[in-house]
Amino acid sequence: MRYRIGQGSDVHRLIEGRPLIIGGVEVGSDLGADGHSDADVLLHAVTDAVLGALALGDIGSHFPNSDPRWKDAASSVFLAHAVSLAHEKGFMVANLDTTVHLEAPKLRPHIDSMRANLAGLLETAIENVSVKAKTGEAVDAVGTRRALRADAVILLEEAS
Ligand code: MG
Repeated sequence: MRYRIGQGSDVHRLIEGRPLIIGGVEVGSDLGADGHSDADVLLHAVTDAVLGALALGDIGSHFPNSDPRWKDAASSVFLAHAVSLAHEKGFMVANLDTTVHLEAPKLRPHIDSMRANLAGLLETAIENVSVKAKTGEAVDAVGTRRALRADAVILLEEAS
């Protein structure tokens, strides 16, 4: 059995007048994530983790933010593309572990919806998908609500 491990992280500024979409879930918030696409920090981190496991560059090399095609794009497109590259190379997802760093609001009510969305995009069972949430303890850019961040680690295994 061949395995490949990948890591990804992402950060977006928080601003007024934008939706806050995390893991494909719109979270009610006075501040939203700034960015060229829908600015889904969690899907971006997971996309980079998949691409990293395959040593196929990063999300910016596949979907440059200078390209108008990706303006306000649903980030599910990015992750679905990365997953299709994994399948082409004969890999499937073993498991994914992630952490979202956001000061407010609390993400707990949305965690299982995020896991379900990720499982669907990764074509794996929800039991293989972990989403954890942490605050910034009122310090740094996360803690002062200037940004949110996501970290992801993924393990791919050779499809049998
Ligand atoms: Mg991003």
